[in-house]
Amino acid sequence: MSIATRLLHSIPVDEQTGAIAVPIYQTSTYVQEAPGVNKGFDYARTGNPTRLALENLVATLEGGHSGYAFASGLAAIDAVVKLLSAGDQIVAIDDIYGGAFRLFEHVYRRLGIDIVYCDTTNAENVAKTITDKTKLIWLESPSNPTLKVSDIAAISAIAKAHNCLLCVDNTFASPILQRPIELGADIVVHSGTKYLGGHSDLIAGIAVAKTEELAKELKFIQNASGGILGPFDCFLTIRGIETLPLRIERTSTSALEVAKFLETRPEVARVYYPGLESHPNHEVAKKQQSGGFGGIIALALTEDTIEAATKLVTSTKYFKLAESLGGAKSLLCHPATMTHKSIPAPTRQASGVADGLVRLSVGLEDAADLIADLAQALDALAAIKEEHVVTKEGELVVA
Ligand SMILES: *Cc1c(COP(=O)(O)O)cnc(C)c1O
Repeated sequence: MSIATRLLHSIPVDEQTGAIAVPIYQTSTYVQEAPGVNKGFDYARTGNPTRLALENLVATLEGGHSGYAFASGLAAIDAVVKLLSAGDQIVAIDDIYGGAFRLFEHVYRRLGIDIVYCDTTNAENVAKTITDKTKLIWLESPSNPTLKVSDIAAISAIAKAHNCLLCVDNTFASPILQRPIELGADIVVHSGTKYLGGHSDLIAGIAVAKTEELAKELKFIQNASGGILGPFDCFLTIRGIETLPLRIERTSTSALEVAKFLETRPEVARVYYPGLESHPNHEVAKKQQSGGFGGIIALALTEDTIEAATKLVTSTKYFKLAESLGGAKSLLCHPATMTHKSIPAPTRQASGVADGLVRLSVGLEDAADLIADLAQALDALAAIKEEHVVTKEGELVVA
């Protein structure tokens, strides 16, 4: 069965009424016949039928045992880190999402968890960085924002050899393009805010566990810490997921066209897109992803300054300047001053998040319109630069 069919038919029809859309069970508690005698639900932090439908859906898509829905992607990440104890260590990708970095560094380090970062695009680096304290390897693939692709199967073998867990943040690829559990990961997390929701209208997070044992631990943490997703947002996420295969197909096709166009522009020094042959991890991306390379592109401007990046991100018409990604409308952002500003400049720059780096989330508009929009914004950038040369060099240039 294809993933689209499996997806749509993993969404249950309501048994009580036959409703084809999952009902929103907006309730805090459930009436019991006698203490402990109930219909499978007792209190809505512990369980809710709308949430359960979403959790089962994502678990099926990711090929895991069970899924758990949280109030945000970061709440899902937080739940996974709570599997660890003080004294444990995480080995994480250096190009990590800024919010995850902040959580690791400013909350969990204080609570006694050590975190070390390395360039996971070379699996050898992971093997060299692991110590006997390492309990969790943290990957994002492709990563946010420089689209680094790590070999999930190779790193999962290293994790197994060292008896530690491998968690993959699969937000960028979505389960349509990549299923890390099938490649050996133990846990997958998503910012459901992005492609799963898909319409820029909610904040959500999901964690999927491969085994029953891990699922039990995550469920315990979800209930104990309580960062659950509310029923209406569960409903919206399910509705978003119904069109996920279509949206991912469309955005992947358009993004490849946009990336190829950007490669032709002199104002752009480098285009980061796993679907391009010029991408250093293109072969690994081809091996572990299927059906396309997603809708996120990063570009490094030839003029590597915050000023040039600011000019570009304020000159587009269809690409709206905003944090977030994965919605129907195209967005762009400047990671150095927006999503990744919580990472100190030297650390940020060392991991490739340069001052002149701009991230694009290619939406569902026509690719030709998006390309025209970027072309005029890059022209505006080039015009500014020319003016700059004239004023700087004075008569010399005019003569
Ligand atoms: C946005 C994002 C997150 C955080 O998700 P929220 O829903 O904003 O909490 C985590 N990982 C990646 C890769 C993201 O893009």
